[in-house]
Amino acid sequence: MKRRLLHYLACQADGCFPMDLYVFEGKDEVITGTLFCPKCSRWYPIREKLPEILPDDLRRKDVELSFLRKWRNLLPKKVLIAGQPFNLRKTPLSKFSLKKSSK
Ligand SMILES: [Zn+2]
Repeated sequence: MKRRLLHYLACQADGCFPMDLYVFEGKDEVITGTLFCPKCSRWYPIREKLPEILPDDLRRKDVELSFLRKWRNLLPKKVLIAGQPFNLRKTPLSKFSLKKSSK
């Protein structure tokens, strides 16, 4: 996704734009990243350059959670533990600390 596209993408739930952009891979062209709606806290993955702005009922929880887990080190807490419709809040905190300390 080209960064300038950000200004044309609105949250599907409330039409809020522009959304916050977090880039994990890519520069001018975002390969992997996340869009975050500051209004309703919904987040949307950008995978293989494609922003996936889907309604909640079309999103697969297992896929979305593994996306969050994969990029947890690059995502802000507001997405990880308060993001909608899925977040990692139910993951026991010990799991976070174990991963970090068991290098
Ligand atoms: Zn929203």
